Amino acid sequence: MRYISTRDNTIQFSASQAITQGLAKDGGLLTPFYIPKLPGNALEDLKAMAYQQRAVYIMKMFLEEFSVKELTDFANAAYGPDKFDTPAVAPVRTVDESTHCLELWHGPTSAFKDMALQMLPHLLTASLAKTEEEKTVCILVATSGDTGKGALEGFKDVARTKILVFYPKDGVSEIQELQMLTQEGSNVGVAAVRGNFDDAQTGVKELFSNEEVRQVLARKGYFFSSANSINWGRVLPQIVYYVSAYCDLLRDEKIAPGQAVNICVPTGNFGNILAAYYAKEMGLPIDQLICASNSNNVLTDFIQKGIYDRNRPFHNTLSPSMDILISSNLERLLYSLTQDPGEVKDYMVQLSKTGRYEVSDKIRVRLQKHFKGYFCDDRETQRVIRAMYGKYGYLVDTHTAVAFSALSQYRHETGDSTAAIVASTASPFKFSGSVLEALGEPVPASGLDALDQLAAKTGLPAPAPLAGLRNKRIRFDQVVEKDRLLNAVATVLE
Ligand SMILES: *Cc1c(COP(=O)(O)O)cnc(C)c1O
Repeated sequence: MRYISTRDNTIQFSASQAITQGLAKDGGLLTPFYIPKLPGNALEDLKAMAYQQRAVYIMKMFLEEFSVKELTDFANAAYGPDKFDTPAVAPVRTVDESTHCLELWHGPTSAFKDMALQMLPHLLTASLAKTEEEKTVCILVATSGDTGKGALEGFKDVARTKILVFYPKDGVSEIQELQMLTQEGSNVGVAAVRGNFDDAQTGVKELFSNEEVRQVLARKGYFFSSANSINWGRVLPQIVYYVSAYCDLLRDEKIAPGQAVNICVPTGNFGNILAAYYAKEMGLPIDQLICASNSNNVLTDFIQKGIYDRNRPFHNTLSPSMDILISSNLERLLYSLTQDPGEVKDYMVQLSKTGRYEVSDKIRVRLQKHFKGYFCDDRETQRVIRAMYGKYGYLVDTHTAVAFSALSQYRHETGDSTAAIVASTASPFKFSGSVLEALGEPVPASGLDALDQLAAKTGLPAPAPLAGLRNKRIRFDQVVEKDRLLNAVATVLE
């Protein structure tokens, strides 16, 4: 399997090169040259396997240079009982006969980012060895809240890596911020950026493409890479859980072999739903991919009109991990739909110059064949949390609630009652204050008190790593201006 840039498919890379580099030098995203097809018997075989084995099977199809033995060791380490609080790793909870919730938050940081970020450090350190890279990798992360903690937890004390996380000062929840500021490990750094997530992401992208900075770093024995979902090593482990969820439903006879399902994903940077699209490309029986957004509904408009336009107000919502106006991974979808790096590059140049592009009619039709887009505001998010808890006794977080709203809008509008898998991306305890408020409960001023109160109200245990935050020491306090990210890099590399 060879990898190419979405903006130039004449240069090919190996998987390990793609994973070490993170981003292509031309600014494009490194992407498989083609998506392999699942063999005819695959789902039957996978049905009987544990999550770890399913991960090896799927990832091996994209990672030729990695042996089954290597991948098995990685999967056992990444998804073991010391990391995930359930042996199912990504369990499927059936809400009603035709609605199934794929819980992706049973890992160490209580958000779906763990599914990939527990695996990425293994893939990356093995890739360093395979590419004979001698320098130390300095991982830069821009986070809307959950990626930062997931990456810190995945990379802490991993040899030959340093990790530096930038988050928007006023754009993350108190618990998310505490999770990051108390991070342990000798190779980690965290800095707040004055600005929103897009400012942090743009700042990080600029550091990446700054040749002068690269050279200074190289002299000191470092090079930059990324743990954001622009890294192929992030997207690949995410394909696994869609296949796994389908296999669980088959195994439990909730669907029949070959039966199509719809998948609904609360979306921000388009990484998670892109993985579902690749699962579909591999041949998993998926009909519609339903892209759920909050009031930052740039993707809803894009799917409905074929026009991507980020020139709109930015909203801080109750689902902060989806407060994004530039969805980086959309570029990979555009490559898949166009198969034309020149066309992708044109769109991306327009996006960076004017904040807007319009795809051709042909591409819009292809896009709409696979994707449906819906959004909801904060009031609706709260209503859904209350309704799900009232009707099913099922507590969902603010992001997952956006997805349930999108699914019901889709079903209402189309009358399509196809079985659906909804990706649940965070533990409700990660957003305790918002969830309590939605349930009509008083909200304590401190996020940690809210956590205790939600546990008391629902009788559900708060995830241990969140409950443990109370006793952790704050280790970081740096705040940088959005055009001064380099200052923070210097402190980590001292
Ligand atoms: C990151 C995140 C999302 C958005 O996922 P993308 O891959 O960026 O689309 C949704 N919900 C939660 C809880 C997240 O952490």
